[in-house]
Amino acid sequence: MPDPVVVLIEDEPQIRKFLRATLEGHGYRLFEATSGADGVVEVGSRQPDVVIVDLGLPDMDGLDVIRRVREWTDVPVIVLSARGGERDKVTALDAGADDYVGKPFGAGELLARIRVALRHTAGASEYRLLTTLIHHAGKVVTHQQVLREVWGPSHTEQAHYVRVYMAHLRQKLEAEPARPRYLLTEPGVGYRLAAE
Ligand code: CA
Repeated sequence: MPDPVVVLIEDEPQIRKFLRATLEGHGYRLFEATSGADGVVEVGSRQPDVVIVDLGLPDMDGLDVIRRVREWTDVPVIVLSARGGERDKVTALDAGADDYVGKPFGAGELLARIRVALRHTAGASEYRLLTTLIHHAGKVVTHQQVLREVWGPSHTEQAHYVRVYMAHLRQKLEAEPARPRYLLTEPGVGYRLAAE
């Protein structure tokens, strides 16, 4: 797996410092924004695996950041907030957040929530990869085609994604993952799902 990319949208310097140390120490690539507007731009340009957003931002409500981001991406969004009431949580989840962590929070808890978010994403990508191969069963699907259909047109250079997720699928579906009978590699071209 490439290092997961996290975009953190948070205006409080101490929390950013704490999260930078925590996340970079655990192998995440972190990009920070200190306002909602910058955060939306960072999410658009960095293509993160997870977004962490504070609700109390200087220029706009974190809820509006989530709504804007949701216009174009399903990236997991974890809310960080001192607003801990049930109603606040429900509002954030309804706005498109996937999870909610109340301040103050511990590093261990936040890291666990990030891992859960990444597992969901990985499961969804494996499923899309499999359905793409089934859709073209018996035919060769090129690396470019897989990347475009599974990850979207902006990811067609990331061939390593396909290798990683194909390995996951083979682990789950093949009796001998190293000698696949169904999920076949077409060297230098792509993959093919064996059709009987
Ligand atoms: Ca804040």
